[in-house]
Amino acid sequence: QAKLSGKNRFHVFDAESDRTLRGQHASLERIRSALQHQEFVLHYQPKVNMRTRTVLGVEALIRWAHPQQGLLAPGHFLPVTENHRLSVDIGEWVIRQALLQLTDWQSQGIGLSISVNISAMQLQQADFLERLQHLMAEFPQLQPHSLELEILETSALEDIAQAARVIAQCKALDVDFALDDFGTGYSSLTYLKRLPIPTVKIDQSFVREMLLDQDNVHILDGILWIMRQLKRNVVAEGVETLEHARALMDLGCEMAQGYGIARPMPVAGLAAWKQHWEQDADWQAIALVPRT
Ligand code: C2E
Ligand code: MG
Ligand code: MG
Ligand code: MG
Repeated sequence: QAKLSGKNRFHVFDAESDRTLRGQHASLERIRSALQHQEFVLHYQPKVNMRTRTVLGVEALIRWAHPQQGLLAPGHFLPVTENHRLSVDIGEWVIRQALLQLTDWQSQGIGLSISVNISAMQLQQADFLERLQHLMAEFPQLQPHSLELEILETSALEDIAQAARVIAQCKALDVDFALDDFGTGYSSLTYLKRLPIPTVKIDQSFVREMLLDQDNVHILDGILWIMRQLKRNVVAEGVETLEHARALMDLGCEMAQGYGIARPMPVAGLAAWKQHWEQDADWQAIALVPRT
């Protein structure tokens, strides 16, 4: 046992080593132990309405507070867990943390919602709904509506019937979904009508390229038009600058997330950020862009 923990302690977390089976096994073991030893933390990125200047909620984003390597972004460790049971365990940890945070906020009268990212494997679990209900039963006083689940277009399309079923069942529990990174998959818009998803998050690449290329503005304009017809909410991701914000407002897209509004942060930073953002003159000016 001592030998094992010693080995774990010195296992440098390196995606390169995942090329070998043994390397992948060691990485999975290390991540499993991180879960057991509470080395994961959630950071929260605010989602705002740029016109009403309200904070609608936050997205929970997992980080690994690695004892030697510092704070690791999910891209460094989540891909290793793909297709392993461990990804479901991590996913449940994230949901439970979010529910704990929501409970804390609700007891303080803070009405924020939390969006949690759900992996493809989680969504494919036959007992996804049961497990979610089980988790929520741990927090009976909580408003289920304050939890939102984000799924990638690609994971929804892997088994669209299963995705549609889960989404409808969750809706009955008052838990809604958002479609994440919209536009990066093989999006044929027609599948949207089969998915009862109220919110679509436009991928950051659209926002990034919008200012570089007029074609992208037209594409985005078209997407927004379709979403309005389909009565879906739209959130733009990757709003890094005031120019991005202004261009989105010009197109009638008011809900946004991005580094230019707030970076993901520990929960303790949210109150100070909010105060700062509400008083920011540039952001106050963005809110005055005429309605289209
Ligand atoms: P996502 O769900 O699309 O989350 C947005 C990602 O973009 C986050 O990266 C966030 O930090 C980053 N981001 C936000 N605003 C900006 C911006 O203005 N510019 C740029 N360049 N980036 C921005 P992060 O935290 O590294 O997460 C990456 C992805 O990992 C997430 O993409 C999500 O797919 C996945 N992920 C994160 N947490 C979890 C989790 O708890 N469970 C699962 N299954 N996946 C997660
Ligand atoms: Mg997301
Ligand atoms: Mg996204
Ligand atoms: Mg993404």
